[in-house]
Amino acid sequence: MGAKVAVPTEVSMDERRVALVPATVAKLVSRGVDVTVEAGAGIGSYFPDDEYAQAGAHIVVTTGELWRGADVVVKVQPPLAAEIDLLRAGQIVVGFMEPSRDLDRVTRLRDGGVTAFAMELLPRITRAQSMDALTSQASVAGYRAALMAALGLGRFFPMLTTPAGTIRPAKVLVLGAGVAGLQAIATSRRLGAMVEAYDVRPAAKEQVESLGARFLSLEIDASAAGGYARELTAEERERQTALIGEHVAGSDAVITTAAIPGRRAPLLLTEEMVGAMRPGSVVVDLAAESGGNCALTRPGETIERGGVTVFGPVNVPSLLPVNASETYARNISDFLGLLISDGELALRWDDEIVAESCLTRDGVIVHEPTRALVEGSDR
Ligand code: NAD
Repeated sequence: MGAKVAVPTEVSMDERRVALVPATVAKLVSRGVDVTVEAGAGIGSYFPDDEYAQAGAHIVVTTGELWRGADVVVKVQPPLAAEIDLLRAGQIVVGFMEPSRDLDRVTRLRDGGVTAFAMELLPRITRAQSMDALTSQASVAGYRAALMAALGLGRFFPMLTTPAGTIRPAKVLVLGAGVAGLQAIATSRRLGAMVEAYDVRPAAKEQVESLGARFLSLEIDASAAGGYARELTAEERERQTALIGEHVAGSDAVITTAAIPGRRAPLLLTEEMVGAMRPGSVVVDLAAESGGNCALTRPGETIERGGVTVFGPVNVPSLLPVNASETYARNISDFLGLLISDGELALRWDDEIVAESCLTRDGVIVHEPTRALVEGSDR
């Protein structure tokens, strides 16, 4: 009997992705893994049940049966309280866990004795690249953000020479040039826009320039461990506001993607800056879910201020569910390779990827920063 991996239907609002697609199911089955998929789990991303069945999965209709019968449940969104209640001690759940955003979820997983692995805690080492779900999903979000900006703007992105005159290319400013930002730059460039980008990590300069965009620099180094950024000091923030302010007014579209792990997103665009933009311009704030990079952002809403449209999209990867699910499924199945060997459950605790991505295990919160947050909130 192989290890039992279960794929539930995502129940969170507006979630169209699925944790495994038929092609990855077939690979797992060929390695001796027993895969069960909840009926309809792939519908939102256009993978019908019969494709999963052809790939060798069992299809079950009852949610409770699926969760209870599994050794490992693989998910996209963090499990809801009702889902955690279906798990028994020792069962494994893998997916995004957003540990700093919902401490109740973490304590529920701990108290249930669940072994929870959080995809966002994966160490960013070369060996873990094919499992890096933050990267695969941020890439989708960056692409989609550029399209949102292009569609929301009242003008062309490319330069056009027409009998009725020459149209200048749109000017796009991208704030935060990590995975999502770089994809937004690449997509905006492909559409013909002129692009400027800003980041607090000097390493981003070369990547931005290689995409044909201009890099704006504060001449500071706020690089932190794992390729992430640290928070800026008050003095650095003042200089940042001045630099961004200089460039925002001349931009037709501003796409913001700046983030600091486990923290509120840095505030980069003030109300005054948006006020200085021309009517018809747009802001797409990809950091909407973690507090927003723009002071006017309302998560999940689109607002207009002085003719400038501010988009605060949430769960952007779900808007491109096919490729988002395909790449996420590849991340998950490669990660499962560290939990399952020859078709049987064999967790490699001595592997740093397994150890560092574990959130709860045997009734303990093993991820130190999350444990400190929970203990702090208990006081
Ligand atoms: P992220 O989502 O945490 O942040 C997005 C970007 O916001 C980052 O580039 C960050 O520097 C930037 N930022 C933070 N504060 C800012 C501010 N005040 N102003 C402007 N920008 C600000 O990070 P991410 O995109 O997931 O990853 C960042 C980098 O990590 C990547 O570009 C890459 O170099 C590296 N990385 C390495 C690996 C690996 O080695 N396996 C995998 C993925 C990413």
